[in-house]
Amino acid sequence: MRKPIVVGNWKMNKTPEEAVQLVAELKPLVAGIEAVEIGICPPFVCLTEASKLLKGTNIGLGAQNMYWEPEGAYTGEISAEMLVTSGCRYVILGHSERRAYFGETNATVHKRLEAALQSGLSPIVCVGETLEQREAGKAEEVVADHLRGAYEGISATDAQKTVIAYEPVWAIGTGLTATPDQAQEMHAFIRKILTELYGDSVAEGVRIQYGGSMKPGNAKELLAQKDIDGGLIGGAALQAESFTGIIKGAL
Ligand code: PEP
Repeated sequence: MRKPIVVGNWKMNKTPEEAVQLVAELKPLVAGIEAVEIGICPPFVCLTEASKLLKGTNIGLGAQNMYWEPEGAYTGEISAEMLVTSGCRYVILGHSERRAYFGETNATVHKRLEAALQSGLSPIVCVGETLEQREAGKAEEVVADHLRGAYEGISATDAQKTVIAYEPVWAIGTGLTATPDQAQEMHAFIRKILTELYGDSVAEGVRIQYGGSMKPGNAKELLAQKDIDGGLIGGAALQAESFTGIIKGAL
């Protein structure tokens, strides 16, 4: 039985002061929820404050990206160890915005994945096709390529520690959501690729989140699908009530 996992990706939103406010609002709303694993990924500059506020709660902390080298002359970058020591449990890797605007490729996602696992983080590996790719009938090919590229050479033991987020690019921040059937179909395909790579038992254990305009109003139906094990939430994670509404949809 896979425990659902709902994680908020705050993207480039919230100052440290605003983050403190949002965390303070969220904590009482989700207190006592144990059946869903909950995480938030604020901007880097909010991590230390958020970590203090989240100690002893049921909300885990994560970051939105990291670099693969452990330290050195990499201006502007953040290492896995820095995230761990800032209180992070999760790190989002290969988000489509990073692929589209910051030149990330399957190869760089793979390097990040290796480094994150070595540091004991739980990586959330994002995969997903653009509208153009879907319309060209290439959605599965693109998602398989994202998965094979990221997981090449990653052991089964490590793969089990990861979470995959299926995020169709055309549904991110657009208000368009994949239908529950469309999402389920791709999640089942992702599990099939995991079976090819690692066998049944790993494939059955890895949690696959859906991401793309998930809201309290559509969460329950999406989360009820057999292979949808949670959500990676952008816009709706910026308000405590809507994020909580989605979490409750996973109960
Ligand atoms: C995301 O960026 O991971 C995401 C799913 O965004 P939104 O919920 O705003 O579509």
